[in-house]
Amino acid sequence: MAGQDCIFCRIAKGQIPSVRVFENDRVLSFLDIHPISDGHALVIPKVHAGSLSECDEGALAELMRITKCLAPAIVKATGSEGYNLLCNNGRAAGQLVDHVHFHIIPRRLNDGVLAHWPHRDYPAGAAEALAEKIRCHLVIS
Ligand code: AMP
Ligand code: ZN
Repeated sequence: MAGQDCIFCRIAKGQIPSVRVFENDRVLSFLDIHPISDGHALVIPKVHAGSLSECDEGALAELMRITKCLAPAIVKATGSEGYNLLCNNGRAAGQLVDHVHFHIIPRRLNDGVLAHWPHRDYPAGAAEALAEKIRCHLVIS
């Protein structure tokens, strides 16, 4: 889903309004319309890619370069103490908009945001077996 049908492509083209924080020729950042915390921003490549794995390396490098600079500015502007960088990939992971984007979510100590992060343990040997299975599927392009 690119161009006409993609809401973030339409935002990048100025066809849908957004509160822009930063843009250059390759990257746009705007405030999330339903923020988890004040200053919650999205950073997108202007060229369409459905997910992180579909994004070309050049676009991704620029996305990360800008995100690295933007995040501390958002933290300072909001008087926050840190931030989460989130990239949902796939419906199971909560991705609603199929145009790759990073969420920058400003955080304060004990703010209760993203508080329930379940922790588990692997049975003996399971972690090593899984790591081997992952290596079997790994393609470094
Ligand atoms: P995700 O679940 O990672 O796909 O996140 C999509 C995000 O896009 C959500 O946090 C939405 O609030 C945000 N969003 C959707 N439409 C707009 C819009 N028109 N302007 C700003 N943010 C939006
Ligand atoms: Zn798009």
